[in-house]
Amino acid sequence: MAEGTTASGMSETTSECSQVKDLMDQPLSDGDTWYLIDLHWFNLWKKYAGWDKWDSSNVGDLTSHPGNIDNSVLMKENSKELKEHLTEDIDFALVPETVWKLLVQWYQLAPGQEPIARKVVDHGMLTSYLRVEIYLTELKLAKYPEVEKTHLQKFSKRDTLENVEKVLREVFQIPENTNIHLWTKSSNQTYEELPMKKQSIQELSLMSNQTLVAEVQNEDGSWPRKSSYSKSRYSDGDSSSSRSVQPGRCGLNNLGNTCFMNSVLQCMSNTPPIQRYFLEERHWAELNKENPLGNQGEIAKAFADLLKAMWSGQHHSFPPRAFKLQVGRFAPQFSGYQQHDSQELLTFLLDGLHEDLNRILKKPYIELKDADGRSDEEVAREGWENYRKRNDSVIVDLFHGLLKSTLVCPECNKVSVTFDPTCYLSLPMPVKKERPVELYLARLDPEVKAMRYRVIVPKMGTILDLTEALSKLCGIPADHMIVADVHQHKFHQIFTNESSISQISERDVIYAMFGVPFILQVPREGMDYDKLYRLIITRMKRYLKTIDEDPAAPTSADAVTNVPSSIPNSCESEMDTEEADLSLENGNEAHPMETNGIEPVANQSQPKRFFTMDLVNLSGNTSLGKLKQNGKPISLAAKNFLTCEWEPAVKEASYDAEAAEDYNEDASSQQRVNVKKQVLQLKECLEVFTSIERLGADDAWYCPSCKKHVRATKKFDLWSLPEVLVIHLKRFSYTRSLRDKLDTLVEFPTRGLNMAPYIIDPNPMDAVYDLIGVCNHYGGLGGGHYTAYAKNKDDGSWYYFDDSSVSESSEDSVCSKAAYVLFYIRRNQSSRWIENVRPPLMKSSPAPVHKTHAKRNSANNSEEEMDSS
Ligand SMILES: [Zn+2]
Repeated sequence: MAEGTTASGMSETTSECSQVKDLMDQPLSDGDTWYLIDLHWFNLWKKYAGWDKWDSSNVGDLTSHPGNIDNSVLMKENSKELKEHLTEDIDFALVPETVWKLLVQWYQLAPGQEPIARKVVDHGMLTSYLRVEIYLTELKLAKYPEVEKTHLQKFSKRDTLENVEKVLREVFQIPENTNIHLWTKSSNQTYEELPMKKQSIQELSLMSNQTLVAEVQNEDGSWPRKSSYSKSRYSDGDSSSSRSVQPGRCGLNNLGNTCFMNSVLQCMSNTPPIQRYFLEERHWAELNKENPLGNQGEIAKAFADLLKAMWSGQHHSFPPRAFKLQVGRFAPQFSGYQQHDSQELLTFLLDGLHEDLNRILKKPYIELKDADGRSDEEVAREGWENYRKRNDSVIVDLFHGLLKSTLVCPECNKVSVTFDPTCYLSLPMPVKKERPVELYLARLDPEVKAMRYRVIVPKMGTILDLTEALSKLCGIPADHMIVADVHQHKFHQIFTNESSISQISERDVIYAMFGVPFILQVPREGMDYDKLYRLIITRMKRYLKTIDEDPAAPTSADAVTNVPSSIPNSCESEMDTEEADLSLENGNEAHPMETNGIEPVANQSQPKRFFTMDLVNLSGNTSLGKLKQNGKPISLAAKNFLTCEWEPAVKEASYDAEAAEDYNEDASSQQRVNVKKQVLQLKECLEVFTSIERLGADDAWYCPSCKKHVRATKKFDLWSLPEVLVIHLKRFSYTRSLRDKLDTLVEFPTRGLNMAPYIIDPNPMDAVYDLIGVCNHYGGLGGGHYTAYAKNKDDGSWYYFDDSSVSESSEDSVCSKAAYVLFYIRRNQSSRWIENVRPPLMKSSPAPVHKTHAKRNSANNSEEEMDSS
């Protein structure tokens, strides 16, 4: 117990703690400096300073002083460089400058170490996305013409070209008054000149390992590189030009965390009807600049320009700057864009293109009618027609299908059927993600030692899953168990069946129940101090060296008869029995009992006991009253917590700590963790998607009959599918306490995906699909990398697009566990679509309808041509 523990450092450390807590709350702010601290050290300090209220046992205790701040484990050996792949909250903690200064003032940095300071950088492309920049950008610096002799130097993304130039001049000893040009040099020996010096590495999209070349002006005023390059500007359209590229085989430069956008753009670019629509300039006739839901046509125009550049056959790679700019302009309408998720960008892009190209200029008001028992065909047709009255575009033509959802109220059986257009299928992945949990089982029987078990439980499961798994191993019914988290011989938390397993840290060792503290059942009626005391002594007798030394104790035979023997071998009975549950915790034996103001503990008629007893709160740090040894009945509630406070000398003589902590091991605790690697089939995901599901309490449905929210059953069915079928695999799961990514391989066909079994329209269109693109995600949450596989419509080959780099790939390799969004096209309808699509309207816009492929001009002048023609 913390009270009375007045070690000298305590008030000091608690004040440290509250100061730091206040300062830690500050939000990230662009340009601020934060510091990395080894997480192990930081946790030691937290314990010492009493960060967590429940864990106050080490507060101010000099034996738990954390020592000097020591970050050596974060650094490469004999180096001032950070180790690779370090993760926040696993390897290090981040603290703001104010906190760092205080900690250094209190604890000093270990000798020979330097602070690890990092800047807060806005990584946001569409909206602000502040992150501490843990790893810096390493540039290769060189001086023309010795461009192979490079000097490595790290920079923050916020460093400007001025900073880079300063370093360059120092390294290559270029005098201040000499003019220089700065170039980026790509691996294929093409140069781009860098612009204004005020721009930052981030704004210029310079990436690690990029080579920067300084060109120093000759004394006669000429420049060593040929003057023909002087026209080359660091701007769209001219990078890495070449005349001999397969059209469409064009990488997209990473503009700073834009790989998620690039991967989606590659899939869209390689969707043949989309490519044709924009390259044939059909969009000019359909631009809807007045649509308040649209983007004044800018997204569509920027997208068309980009496709033209990608299919011009002139670029190995192209920087999608103008497109990014337009997306950035219009994205604020969108909320929740912090996740750099390619699926979200695709949703935005499809919606943005649709509204920019919506042929409906004035959306009519349409009253929605309830299905009311009418046939599916009728309701579906009505739903689709109504939708098309407001939404009619190339995107609707190609990407929109119709989804039937059926909700049934569990209370009144009201059935609600709706048909909703959808532009992709978001499929759940039926993966049982499991984890092992180690725990100790303590039985009520005082003779039996605790037993250690290891159980495999679903990651997203509840405590009931855990007790049921344990029940299979130990034979005790799950509802006879209580699960508690124990720290420092105290109950930290007692779980309910519904508690989420994710509350149990994967790094902690977990206790179902343990030796000390323990749970004791006592009769609700007729308890007095003596009886309770004897029950506790009996419960602890396995680890009491003697119980006879206590003159108050009955003989051990007597004691045994007092144990409630009706439930031998069981851990715990249900709460509503005629017995009260007492949780007993070990009091702090390090300081003497408080006797002032309390009834005398030892007097003539009441012989001295091993310990006194306090009713306390759950965490055992607040006394709710000392039990009085006065022979009067004690009234106990269903869940009381009691601490036993020992006299040090008595404890020394009688308490066998080793025996108390002793346990046996069940065979399960030795088993190797064998969480099976799974392979899923796409059709399993489709089956789960179309199966009946009961809504959770969080997404309950408002039943119009019952007039309240109910946990309805919900079922999706596919009514009709579009020409281009986009399938999103839900690899990311978010709950309140857990964010997770599933890396399971989902096997999907590259050819001949037959969707017919999932379509309920009795007169369906042909539903065989072939794969044309895959957007991949590698790595974990919050970061990771996106790439794409896509099939070139002209040469029929698969390519792998990794930002600016493009490589040929095989059809077999596109199905990997990184696959995240799949693009399929209908096998037998896609050619018909082009004929079905409306011919471009000639009246409003003088768009040249068929700019032939032979006349592939530079991408940038197309718009001017349009305007002048
Ligand atoms: Zn209802």
